[in-house]
Amino acid sequence: MIISVASGKGGTGKTTVAVNLALALGDCQLLDCDVEEPNAQVFLKADIRAREPATVRVPEIDYQKCDFCGKCGDVCAYHALAVLPRKVLFFPQMCHSCGACEMLCPRKAIRETDRTIGEIETGDREGIRFVQGKLNVGETMAPPLIRQVKSRIEPNSVAILDAPPGTSCPMVTAVRGSDFCILVTEPTPFGMNDLHLAIETVKKLGIPYGVVVNRAEADDLKTRDYFKSNQIPLLLKIPLDRKIAELYSIGTPFIGPMPEYREKFRALFKTISETVRVSS
Ligand code: SF4
Ligand code: SF4
Repeated sequence: MIISVASGKGGTGKTTVAVNLALALGDCQLLDCDVEEPNAQVFLKADIRAREPATVRVPEIDYQKCDFCGKCGDVCAYHALAVLPRKVLFFPQMCHSCGACEMLCPRKAIRETDRTIGEIETGDREGIRFVQGKLNVGETMAPPLIRQVKSRIEPNSVAILDAPPGTSCPMVTAVRGSDFCILVTEPTPFGMNDLHLAIETVKKLGIPYGVVVNRAEADDLKTRDYFKSNQIPLLLKIPLDRKIAELYSIGTPFIGPMPEYREKFRALFKTISETVRVSS
């Protein structure tokens, strides 16, 4: 079962939820797909066992064959190629590795080569198999690396995916194909607005979802009424608590020192499993 943890905006506590859920379950995978800013490892502190480069395929011009006809520049929908009278300019950050230029070059003057965009680390801690993608500074193409991280999802295992924040391509790439999506929010006007956008996104992807409210105030009737009137499933409330904030600030998952939350996260998983079972 694949459970993604997402949020309409950054800073809501999405990673905290993903890591605490993984630690509460024990035997599972945790995959950090927030490749532009991966920080699950700050809390998990897994033993990293392997590192390998993440690459994409990009074109390379063979100037022995190229006659500067301009066709590759014309077919590239992403403007990654510009053909000058005696040179073909290539802008690697704009290339989507679609392969069209190589396929359509009339002189077979293009071959594909690997370009490193980041790395993938794998490790473990307490039965949790950990995978994280790290995009190199300056790279803009998060989706190919996210797909490579997701390709490590083990069949017949519980996989928890820490998705990038927001509702753009990287978030959709991470969340797509999940059996369930946990949306993490905070009870502020900005938080609620971004939650609304995230809900619309997962609905379009046809993924069952539920919400975890982080930094919740005990007497927040407004949020409760909003969830009720919009039929938004509320999975768990994590209170605005000084102890949780202090543990967060030193990179400690709070289910360790606050074991009552271990049970709450296990109950959350049970609810999710039941929802997935009913909707599949
Ligand atoms: S399509 Fe092929 S031959 Fe034409 S400019 Fe591009 S690389 Fe050169
Ligand atoms: S592989 Fe696709 S995106 Fe990249 S340069 Fe060629 S046509 Fe453009």
